[in-house]
Amino acid sequence: MHLYTDTRCLEHRVPNGHPERPERLAAVLNHLKACGFIDDHPMLAPEQAKDVDIQRAHSLAHVKDITTFATNDNLEADKTSMVPVDPDTWMSQHSLTAARLAAGAVCNGIDDLISGRTQRVFCAVRPPGHHAERDAAMGFCLFNSIAIGALKALASPTIERVAILDFDVHHGNGTVDIFTDNPAVMVCSSFQHPHYPNRKFDVRRDHLIHTPLAAGTAGTEFRRQIEADWLPALERHAPELILVSAGFDAHQRDPLAQLNLVEDDYAWITDLIVSTANQYSEGRVISTLEGGYDLQALTQSVETHLAHLAPAVSR
Ligand SMILES: [Zn+2]
Repeated sequence: MHLYTDTRCLEHRVPNGHPERPERLAAVLNHLKACGFIDDHPMLAPEQAKDVDIQRAHSLAHVKDITTFATNDNLEADKTSMVPVDPDTWMSQHSLTAARLAAGAVCNGIDDLISGRTQRVFCAVRPPGHHAERDAAMGFCLFNSIAIGALKALASPTIERVAILDFDVHHGNGTVDIFTDNPAVMVCSSFQHPHYPNRKFDVRRDHLIHTPLAAGTAGTEFRRQIEADWLPALERHAPELILVSAGFDAHQRDPLAQLNLVEDDYAWITDLIVSTANQYSEGRVISTLEGGYDLQALTQSVETHLAHLAPAVSR
Protein backbone atom coordinates (compact mmCIF):
# COMPACT_ATOMS: atom_id res chain seq x y z
CA MET A 1 0.00 0.00 0.00
CA HIS A 2 1.23 3.48 -0.89
CA LEU A 3 0.39 6.44 1.36
CA TYR A 4 0.86 9.87 -0.22
CA THR A 5 0.93 13.05 1.83
CA ASP A 6 2.76 16.38 1.96
CA THR A 7 3.06 18.87 4.79
CA ARG A 8 2.62 21.67 2.23
CA CYS A 9 -1.07 20.71 2.17
CA LEU A 10 -1.19 22.15 5.71
CA GLU A 11 -0.20 25.57 4.35
CA HIS A 12 -3.47 26.07 2.46
CA ARG A 13 -4.97 28.60 4.88
CA VAL A 14 -8.63 29.41 5.49
CA PRO A 15 -10.32 32.03 7.71
CA ASN A 16 -10.74 31.34 11.43
CA GLY A 17 -13.75 29.14 12.06
CA HIS A 18 -13.73 27.59 8.58
CA PRO A 19 -14.40 23.84 8.88
CA GLU A 20 -11.93 22.73 6.19
CA ARG A 21 -8.89 23.73 8.26
CA PRO A 22 -5.25 22.56 8.32
CA GLU A 23 -5.85 20.90 11.70
CA ARG A 24 -7.88 18.21 9.91
CA LEU A 25 -4.93 16.83 8.01
CA ALA A 26 -2.53 17.40 10.91
CA ALA A 27 -4.83 15.33 13.15
CA VAL A 28 -5.03 12.53 10.56
CA LEU A 29 -1.24 12.35 10.20
CA ASN A 30 -0.65 12.49 13.96
CA HIS A 31 -3.20 9.73 14.46
CA LEU A 32 -1.68 7.51 11.76
CA LYS A 33 1.71 7.93 13.45
CA ALA A 34 0.27 7.22 16.92
CA CYS A 35 -1.53 4.05 15.82
CA GLY A 36 1.58 2.74 14.04
CA PHE A 37 0.15 2.80 10.51
CA ILE A 38 2.91 5.07 9.25
CA ASP A 39 5.58 2.70 10.61
CA ASP A 40 4.22 -0.03 8.34
CA HIS A 41 3.39 2.27 5.42
CA PRO A 42 5.98 5.02 4.96
CA MET A 43 4.72 8.32 3.63
CA LEU A 44 5.50 9.11 0.00
CA ALA A 45 5.81 12.69 -1.28
CA PRO A 46 3.60 13.45 -4.29
CA GLU A 47 4.57 15.55 -7.29
CA GLN A 48 2.45 18.57 -8.16
CA ALA A 49 -0.13 17.72 -10.85
CA LYS A 50 0.93 18.86 -14.30
CA ASP A 51 -1.20 21.21 -16.42
CA VAL A 52 -1.81 18.44 -18.94
CA ASP A 53 -3.33 16.29 -16.19
CA ILE A 54 -5.44 19.08 -14.66
CA GLN A 55 -6.74 20.19 -18.06
CA ARG A 56 -8.24 16.81 -18.86
CA ALA A 57 -10.81 17.56 -16.13
CA HIS A 58 -10.96 21.37 -16.10
CA SER A 59 -11.37 24.09 -18.69
CA LEU A 60 -8.42 26.28 -19.49
CA ALA A 61 -10.50 29.23 -18.23
CA HIS A 62 -10.85 27.59 -14.80
CA VAL A 63 -7.14 26.84 -14.51
CA LYS A 64 -6.40 30.45 -15.50
CA ASP A 65 -8.90 31.75 -12.91
CA ILE A 66 -7.28 29.78 -10.09
CA THR A 67 -3.81 30.82 -11.21
CA THR A 68 -4.91 34.47 -11.33
CA PHE A 69 -6.21 34.26 -7.75
CA ALA A 70 -2.95 32.62 -6.68
CA THR A 71 -0.85 35.40 -8.20
CA ASN A 72 -2.91 38.14 -6.50
CA ASP A 73 -0.40 40.70 -5.18
CA ASN A 74 -1.77 40.58 -1.62
CA LEU A 75 -1.39 36.80 -1.45
CA GLU A 76 2.11 36.86 -2.84
CA ALA A 77 3.16 39.55 -0.35
CA ASP A 78 1.59 38.18 2.81
CA LYS A 79 1.20 34.56 3.84
CA THR A 80 -1.67 35.42 6.20
CA SER A 81 -3.70 37.02 3.40
CA MET A 82 -6.67 35.15 1.87
CA VAL A 83 -9.09 35.72 -0.98
CA PRO A 84 -12.52 34.11 -1.53
CA VAL A 85 -12.95 32.19 -4.77
CA ASP A 86 -16.60 31.52 -3.88
CA PRO A 87 -18.44 32.17 -0.59
CA ASP A 88 -17.09 28.90 0.94
CA THR A 89 -13.79 28.51 -0.88
CA TRP A 90 -10.65 30.48 -0.08
CA MET A 91 -7.12 30.75 -1.36
CA SER A 92 -3.94 31.80 0.44
CA GLN A 93 -0.31 32.02 -0.66
CA HIS A 94 0.23 28.26 -0.81
CA SER A 95 -3.26 27.10 -1.83
CA LEU A 96 -2.40 26.52 -5.50
CA THR A 97 0.59 24.39 -4.50
CA ALA A 98 -1.56 22.41 -2.05
CA ALA A 99 -4.26 21.83 -4.69
CA ARG A 100 -1.67 20.72 -7.24
CA LEU A 101 -0.16 18.34 -4.66
CA ALA A 102 -3.60 16.93 -3.79
CA ALA A 103 -4.29 16.22 -7.46
CA GLY A 104 -0.70 15.12 -8.06
CA ALA A 105 -0.92 12.53 -5.29
CA VAL A 106 -3.86 10.91 -7.09
CA CYS A 107 -1.95 11.03 -10.40
CA ASN A 108 1.12 9.42 -8.81
CA GLY A 109 -1.07 6.77 -7.23
CA ILE A 110 -2.73 6.01 -10.57
CA ASP A 111 0.70 5.46 -12.11
CA ASP A 112 1.59 3.14 -9.21
CA LEU A 113 -1.56 1.06 -9.71
CA ILE A 114 -1.24 0.80 -13.49
CA SER A 115 2.45 -0.11 -13.33
CA GLY A 116 1.72 -2.77 -10.70
CA ARG A 117 3.92 -1.20 -8.00
CA THR A 118 1.04 -1.50 -5.53
CA GLN A 119 -2.65 -2.48 -5.42
CA ARG A 120 -3.80 0.13 -2.91
CA VAL A 121 -3.18 3.86 -2.52
CA PHE A 122 -4.42 6.43 -0.01
CA CYS A 123 -3.86 10.17 -0.44
CA ALA A 124 -3.93 12.11 2.84
CA VAL A 125 -4.26 15.56 1.32
CA ARG A 126 -6.23 18.80 1.29
CA PRO A 127 -7.95 20.79 -0.13
CA PRO A 128 -10.64 18.27 -1.08
CA GLY A 129 -11.81 18.11 -4.70
CA HIS A 130 -15.17 16.52 -5.48
CA HIS A 131 -17.24 19.74 -5.60
CA ALA A 132 -14.98 21.39 -8.20
CA GLU A 133 -16.77 21.38 -11.55
CA ARG A 134 -15.17 21.62 -14.98
CA ASP A 135 -15.40 25.42 -14.95
CA ALA A 136 -15.62 26.34 -11.28
CA ALA A 137 -14.15 25.97 -7.81
CA MET A 138 -16.73 25.50 -5.06
CA GLY A 139 -17.37 23.89 -1.70
CA PHE A 140 -13.77 24.13 -0.38
CA CYS A 141 -12.49 22.52 -3.64
CA LEU A 142 -10.18 24.12 -6.24
CA PHE A 143 -9.32 21.20 -8.55
CA ASN A 144 -11.23 17.92 -8.74
CA SER A 145 -8.41 15.55 -7.80
CA ILE A 146 -10.39 12.32 -8.21
CA ALA A 147 -11.61 13.35 -11.68
CA ILE A 148 -8.09 14.33 -12.70
CA GLY A 149 -6.91 10.89 -11.56
CA ALA A 150 -9.70 9.04 -13.38
CA LEU A 151 -8.87 10.82 -16.64
CA LYS A 152 -5.17 10.12 -16.17
CA ALA A 153 -6.02 6.42 -15.80
CA LEU A 154 -8.09 6.50 -18.99
CA ALA A 155 -5.20 8.12 -20.83
CA SER A 156 -3.32 4.86 -20.31
CA PRO A 157 -3.78 2.45 -23.23
CA THR A 158 -4.54 -0.39 -20.80
CA ILE A 159 -7.55 1.18 -19.02
CA GLU A 160 -10.95 1.62 -20.67
CA ARG A 161 -13.38 1.79 -17.74
CA VAL A 162 -13.07 3.10 -14.18
CA ALA A 163 -15.48 3.78 -11.33
CA ILE A 164 -15.48 6.60 -8.79
CA LEU A 165 -17.17 5.68 -5.51
CA ASP A 166 -18.00 8.72 -3.37
CA PHE A 167 -19.32 8.21 0.19
CA ASP A 168 -18.74 11.79 1.37
CA VAL A 169 -21.97 13.12 2.92
CA HIS A 170 -22.17 15.78 0.21
CA HIS A 171 -23.06 14.88 -3.36
CA GLY A 172 -20.07 14.76 -5.73
CA ASN A 173 -21.54 17.39 -8.05
CA GLY A 174 -18.18 18.31 -9.54
CA THR A 175 -17.35 14.74 -10.44
CA VAL A 176 -20.81 14.26 -11.98
CA ASP A 177 -20.38 17.50 -13.94
CA ILE A 178 -17.03 16.42 -15.38
CA PHE A 179 -18.24 12.93 -16.35
CA THR A 180 -21.82 13.63 -17.44
CA ASP A 181 -21.03 12.72 -21.04
CA ASN A 182 -18.22 10.23 -20.38
CA PRO A 183 -19.67 6.74 -19.83
CA ALA A 184 -16.17 5.28 -19.35
CA VAL A 185 -16.36 6.65 -15.81
CA MET A 186 -19.13 5.32 -13.57
CA VAL A 187 -19.79 7.73 -10.71
CA CYS A 188 -21.60 6.37 -7.63
CA SER A 189 -22.32 8.99 -4.97
CA SER A 190 -24.20 8.60 -1.68
CA PHE A 191 -25.20 11.86 -0.02
CA GLN A 192 -27.58 13.53 2.39
CA HIS A 193 -30.51 14.97 0.47
CA PRO A 194 -31.74 17.62 0.42
CA HIS A 195 -28.47 19.23 1.48
CA TYR A 196 -25.49 21.18 0.10
CA PRO A 197 -24.59 21.45 -2.80
CA ASN A 198 -28.03 20.60 -4.24
CA ARG A 199 -26.72 20.56 -7.83
CA LYS A 200 -26.31 17.85 -10.47
CA PHE A 201 -28.01 15.16 -8.33
CA ASP A 202 -30.77 14.96 -10.93
CA VAL A 203 -28.52 14.41 -13.97
CA ARG A 204 -29.74 11.08 -15.36
CA ARG A 205 -27.34 8.76 -17.18
CA ASP A 206 -26.83 5.00 -16.92
CA HIS A 207 -23.28 5.56 -15.64
CA LEU A 208 -24.28 8.09 -12.92
CA ILE A 209 -25.61 6.42 -9.77
CA HIS A 210 -27.11 8.85 -7.25
CA THR A 211 -27.94 7.51 -3.78
CA PRO A 212 -29.76 10.24 -1.83
CA LEU A 213 -30.20 9.63 1.90
CA ALA A 214 -32.61 11.47 4.21
CA ALA A 215 -31.26 13.34 7.24
CA GLY A 216 -31.06 10.91 10.15
CA THR A 217 -30.17 7.88 8.00
CA ALA A 218 -27.99 5.39 9.92
CA GLY A 219 -25.84 2.44 8.92
CA THR A 220 -28.46 -0.23 8.24
CA GLU A 221 -30.35 1.84 5.69
CA PHE A 222 -27.08 3.25 4.23
CA ARG A 223 -25.81 -0.29 3.62
CA ARG A 224 -29.13 -1.42 2.13
CA GLN A 225 -29.20 1.47 -0.35
CA ILE A 226 -25.54 1.12 -1.35
CA GLU A 227 -26.01 -2.59 -2.04
CA ALA A 228 -29.19 -1.96 -4.02
CA ASP A 229 -27.86 0.96 -6.09
CA TRP A 230 -24.12 0.40 -6.49
CA LEU A 231 -23.56 -3.34 -6.77
CA PRO A 232 -25.70 -4.02 -9.90
CA ALA A 233 -24.25 -0.92 -11.58
CA LEU A 234 -20.66 -1.97 -10.82
CA GLU A 235 -21.35 -5.47 -12.10
CA ARG A 236 -22.61 -3.93 -15.35
CA HIS A 237 -19.63 -1.56 -15.66
CA ALA A 238 -16.86 -3.94 -14.52
CA PRO A 239 -14.37 -1.14 -13.78
CA GLU A 240 -10.69 -1.93 -14.34
CA LEU A 241 -9.69 0.41 -11.54
CA ILE A 242 -11.62 1.93 -8.60
CA LEU A 243 -11.18 5.46 -7.29
CA VAL A 244 -12.70 6.51 -3.97
CA SER A 245 -13.76 9.98 -2.81
CA ALA A 246 -13.37 9.21 0.88
CA GLY A 247 -15.20 11.82 2.93
CA PHE A 248 -16.02 10.99 6.52
CA ASP A 249 -18.62 13.71 7.16
CA ALA A 250 -21.57 11.26 7.13
CA HIS A 251 -20.33 10.25 10.62
CA GLN A 252 -22.83 10.89 13.38
CA ARG A 253 -20.43 13.29 15.14
CA ASP A 254 -19.87 15.48 12.08
CA PRO A 255 -21.08 19.08 12.49
CA LEU A 256 -21.81 19.78 8.80
CA ALA A 257 -24.50 17.14 8.17
CA GLN A 258 -27.10 14.94 9.82
CA LEU A 259 -26.36 11.32 8.84
CA ASN A 260 -25.55 8.77 11.52
CA LEU A 261 -22.75 6.56 10.25
CA VAL A 262 -20.11 5.19 12.64
CA GLU A 263 -16.64 3.68 12.14
CA ASP A 264 -18.10 0.21 11.56
CA ASP A 265 -20.00 1.54 8.54
CA TYR A 266 -16.72 2.81 7.05
CA ALA A 267 -15.21 -0.65 7.65
CA TRP A 268 -18.21 -2.16 5.84
CA ILE A 269 -18.06 0.10 2.79
CA THR A 270 -14.28 -0.27 2.54
CA ASP A 271 -14.68 -4.06 2.55
CA LEU A 272 -17.34 -3.74 -0.16
CA ILE A 273 -14.99 -1.58 -2.26
CA VAL A 274 -12.08 -4.01 -1.83
CA SER A 275 -14.20 -7.04 -2.71
CA THR A 276 -15.53 -5.22 -5.80
CA ALA A 277 -11.96 -4.36 -6.79
CA ASN A 278 -10.88 -7.95 -6.30
CA GLN A 279 -13.75 -9.08 -8.51
CA TYR A 280 -13.33 -6.67 -11.43
CA SER A 281 -10.25 -4.47 -11.00
CA GLU A 282 -7.32 -6.75 -10.17
CA GLY A 283 -7.64 -5.42 -6.61
CA ARG A 284 -6.65 -1.89 -7.67
CA VAL A 285 -8.07 0.89 -5.45
CA ILE A 286 -6.99 4.49 -4.92
CA SER A 287 -8.72 6.50 -2.21
CA THR A 288 -8.34 10.19 -1.49
CA LEU A 289 -9.49 12.28 1.45
CA GLU A 290 -12.47 14.55 0.83
CA GLY A 291 -14.53 15.88 3.81
CA GLY A 292 -14.82 15.05 7.52
CA TYR A 293 -14.92 17.91 10.01
CA ASP A 294 -15.06 16.39 13.50
CA LEU A 295 -11.45 15.57 14.30
CA GLN A 296 -12.16 12.52 16.47
CA ALA A 297 -14.61 11.02 13.97
CA LEU A 298 -12.29 11.86 11.09
CA THR A 299 -9.12 10.35 12.55
CA GLN A 300 -10.76 7.16 13.78
CA SER A 301 -12.70 6.71 10.54
CA VAL A 302 -9.55 7.17 8.44
CA GLU A 303 -7.75 4.59 10.60
CA THR A 304 -10.63 2.14 10.07
CA HIS A 305 -10.75 2.85 6.31
CA LEU A 306 -7.00 2.22 5.96
CA ALA A 307 -7.00 -0.91 8.12
CA HIS A 308 -9.59 -2.39 5.73
CA LEU A 309 -8.06 -0.94 2.56
CA ALA A 310 -4.53 -2.22 3.17
CA PRO A 311 -3.93 -5.71 1.77
CA ALA A 312 -4.04 -8.41 4.45
CA VAL A 313 -0.35 -9.15 4.07
CA SER A 314 0.64 -5.76 5.50
CA ARG A 315 -2.04 -5.41 8.19
ZN1 LIG B 1 -18.45 16.60 2.41
